Amino acid sequence: MSRYLPTPPPNPPMEAVPFWDWCRKRELRFQQCSNCGRCRHHPAPYCRFCTSDQCQWVPAPEEAELFSYTVIHNAVSEALKAYVPYNIAVVAFPSLGVRLISNVIDLEPSELRIGMPLRLTWQECDDGTPLPLFLGKNG
Ligand SMILES: [Zn+2]
Repeated sequence: MSRYLPTPPPNPPMEAVPFWDWCRKRELRFQQCSNCGRCRHHPAPYCRFCTSDQCQWVPAPEEAELFSYTVIHNAVSEALKAYVPYNIAVVAFPSLGVRLISNVIDLEPSELRIGMPLRLTWQECDDGTPLPLFLGKNG
């Protein structure tokens, strides 16, 4: 399979560095507040519920669901022209209460359905960084 999108993510803010460190180990993890137990994503230095600055990184399940999506038909840069149409998916992890922006890489736009089950997979960017992406077939 060719790469879905070849461009690695830009340099992350300091609080997101652990997220990408886990991704390099092909482990999808989210921040969980050590005080109130709620998970959050994007990574943040403080819990928005209780303002604690203490957290741990908990593993996400491989099963998720498609919360929402959009299909891009017009490439915003030359680097993406070969990939249109592609989707940008909001992937939900109901057991953790978090959502992740990603892509569903094995379905045509007409096959995407809100609420459909998805399964985590990994695909490396050109620089070798594994990206958490999702499969819809047999999800
Ligand atoms: Zn909290």
